[in-house]
Amino acid sequence: MEGIDIAHIRSQFPILNRTVWNKPLVYLDSAATSFTPQCVVDEITRVYTTCKANVHRGVHSLSQEATDLQEATRECVREFINASSTQEIIFTRGTTEAINLVSSSYGRLLENGDEIIVTTMEHHANIVPWQLLGSRKRIILRVVPIKKDGTLDLEAYQSLFNERTKLVAVCHVSNVLGTVNPIKDIIKEAHQYNVPVLVDGAQAISHIKVDVQDLDADFYAFSAHKMYGPTGVGVLYGKKHLLKMMPPYQGGGEMIGTVDFKKTTYAELPFKFEAGTPDFVGIAAFKKAIEFMQSIGIENIAAYEHELLAYATAEMEKIPNMRIFGTAPQKSGVVSFLIGNEHHYDLGMLLDKLGVEVRTGHHCAQPLMHALSIEGTVRASFAAYNTREEIDVFIAALKRVSAMLG
Ligand code: PMP
Repeated sequence: MEGIDIAHIRSQFPILNRTVWNKPLVYLDSAATSFTPQCVVDEITRVYTTCKANVHRGVHSLSQEATDLQEATRECVREFINASSTQEIIFTRGTTEAINLVSSSYGRLLENGDEIIVTTMEHHANIVPWQLLGSRKRIILRVVPIKKDGTLDLEAYQSLFNERTKLVAVCHVSNVLGTVNPIKDIIKEAHQYNVPVLVDGAQAISHIKVDVQDLDADFYAFSAHKMYGPTGVGVLYGKKHLLKMMPPYQGGGEMIGTVDFKKTTYAELPFKFEAGTPDFVGIAAFKKAIEFMQSIGIENIAAYEHELLAYATAEMEKIPNMRIFGTAPQKSGVVSFLIGNEHHYDLGMLLDKLGVEVRTGHHCAQPLMHALSIEGTVRASFAAYNTREEIDVFIAALKRVSAMLG
């Protein structure tokens, strides 16, 4: 495909050369975590071996260098998602912590009887933090149902708003169905009622061009490890005026102005929300991951993954008793499926023996599983380093497994 030099991309991921059960590895689990190119690994090594000193705490040269690296990543993230200011970019441990930050902090501004709109297709990370809030006060979750094809029922969504609605928390892309939600329209609708929207962007950020200002998102959360980056790093984007009125999330070093037993003041944004020593090595390396994606072009990645998805789906549909969950017109590179009534674990274990790594289970989306009346699925997901040849191996493996299970 034009714009994608797949051999060059693959050459940057040494892990692709390994085998599983003596078979060449076919990794189709990038929705859980993506592989990491050598440039990111090299940067981690470089920081550890040349300038590992704590950030924002020292006047000495190493600390300054480490701080500059961290802040350069913040600027890189700002530009990547087109935020208006680095004050709106908060480093977290990942999407989960970013959402917990909003639920703990913004949640303290809510009152008994207030309502939050979520959807049936949310990951547990965008359900449980809101339920935890409800254990401290009476917060009601209103749930947008899904249609047969795995799209959101937007008419039902519109009907859920009332004067008690205080937040909409919705994923940009479903980690199970692959549905790309019409997030701009969802946000526009909420804003008519002056309700802010938190977008769980974990499955979108490395597959779709995200422009937080164009979307008019109030909060946007994502994880570096799903975007070719290191583990333990994530981002919460938040509009400045909202972050300003929110109380701190955690207390400790870095997040303060002055501390006294009588009165403590807090640091300016974004540091108000960054208590303690961050994973500054990971944050520094995260910049390399973003640059890796930019070197290919996120639109090129999206188009390429879309080709892989279309090819895989067409081939899968030829397999008898194939049940694909999620057939939305706008889908990202995720296919969830079952074959007949075979258990997802059996399918996943047998595929593994053939070198094909797929995810099985409820994918941290049990309410969605309940809505689909299933316990779990097998999920194949694609990234920029996957190939049509790998899809052929996957399809051949599926046919073999299907025949084995009868
Ligand atoms: N939301 C969605 C849609 C996800 O797919 C995931 C990761 N599986 C998360 C949230 C949580 O991300 P993390 O574990 O990196 O915090």
